[in-house]
Amino acid sequence: MTLSRHNIFSRIADSDDYFIVNLLTGNADILSADQARQVREERITDTEEFTAKGYLSDEAEETRLFRRRYADFIDARDKDEVQLFFVPWYSCNFSCSYCYQEGYSNVHTTPGSEVVDAFFAYITKEFAGRKKYITVFGGEPLLPGNAYRAVVVRLLDKARESGLETAFVTNGYSLADYVDVLKAYAIREVQVTLDGVGDVHDMRRPLKGGGATFHKIAQGIDRALDAGITINLRVVVDKENLAGLTDLARFAIARGWTKHPKFKTQLGRNYELHYCQTDQGKLLTRIEMYQELYTLIQVHPEILQFHKPAFSIAKFLFENGSLPSPLYDSCPGTKTEWAFDYSGAIYSCTATVGKKEEALGTYYPFVTRNADRIGQWEERDVTSIAECTSCNLRLACGGGCASVASNRTGRIQSPDCRPVKELLEIGLSTYFVKELA
Ligand code: SF4
Ligand code: SF4
Repeated sequence: MTLSRHNIFSRIADSDDYFIVNLLTGNADILSADQARQVREERITDTEEFTAKGYLSDEAEETRLFRRRYADFIDARDKDEVQLFFVPWYSCNFSCSYCYQEGYSNVHTTPGSEVVDAFFAYITKEFAGRKKYITVFGGEPLLPGNAYRAVVVRLLDKARESGLETAFVTNGYSLADYVDVLKAYAIREVQVTLDGVGDVHDMRRPLKGGGATFHKIAQGIDRALDAGITINLRVVVDKENLAGLTDLARFAIARGWTKHPKFKTQLGRNYELHYCQTDQGKLLTRIEMYQELYTLIQVHPEILQFHKPAFSIAKFLFENGSLPSPLYDSCPGTKTEWAFDYSGAIYSCTATVGKKEEALGTYYPFVTRNADRIGQWEERDVTSIAECTSCNLRLACGGGCASVASNRTGRIQSPDCRPVKELLEIGLSTYFVKELA
């Protein structure tokens, strides 16, 4: 019996205690300093408990379990819902300081009904028998004006005909004007971005040509929630606005959003994905973002009423009392996510959509599929990325984002490492030791 190759072990931040987590067997424990010393020195005294929990294991046995759980993962994913993004245009009425699409050509046109119909014909055939829903993305999908509105209504009508729910990713500026349309359909959720309160947001996300947007977006969120539409509020953070999260949390609490059953939040990190950021110095690495958040939450725990950070699997463990299933692949691209744009091109996901050189095929005017490239995407997981195959973090990390990895290395089959251990150190501290939630 030796220590498992899947143990994740470290000290909990600001604590004398340690943790050990094993995603393969689904066990997690807090360890005393003495037990931690035994793990470090590989001289476990309570071998019975450590063996029962899989922290100590037989290598051949563990390999068999790894394969069984991998088969379970693939089975579950094959039955999972597919998210199909549709980009009706790349036009946008905002000029965000960090816009990753600013390098894209911005053709001011709307897709004809034959393009929308071809999209629905393709997904009906290609994803027959799969649970699925559509997410309308941009550019900005909810632009003002009758021509844009007519396309949105056509998309919603076609989705309804196909029995599919629709979600939107919007800057929120015209949301209030679209609520009457949206509430007549099965809307999964509307994702809206606010980067802070008032000026903090307006400096980062102004109208094209200038002009504040915060108050109009906040009104749109009110209207949507009143109409029973789920709002997923996204905050994109970097060094410039992270401290302003406290004000945004207080604003959302005072506005009654955080108590609304249809309100949820997510934090996005501003990072270089497509085109170089003009000011790379303001970007936070993943661990920097979470560390700063950890520090901020200790001073302003009310942030947790607004958003509870995942801190890898720490929040899941706290909320469910058990670990999630092993994550053999964290990148849904071409497995449970695809993206389509108005030009008729097919892409893996939102990270590649619009990058012509990364298209995987077409659905209009003809159906074509680049089987080799699709195959590379489909094969990518922690069993195919060489660096991941011996990594003890793999079943929590899942290999990260294929697009980020391939932008860095030029290869899809390369890792985008997640700081799982460090995230658990601060996450377990937040939820289990300091009990701030
Ligand atoms: S490549 Fe990145 S952005 Fe695209 S689906 Fe995978 S993880 Fe998501
Ligand atoms: S991407 Fe990096 S951290 Fe994640 S499993 Fe692979 S090697 Fe480990």
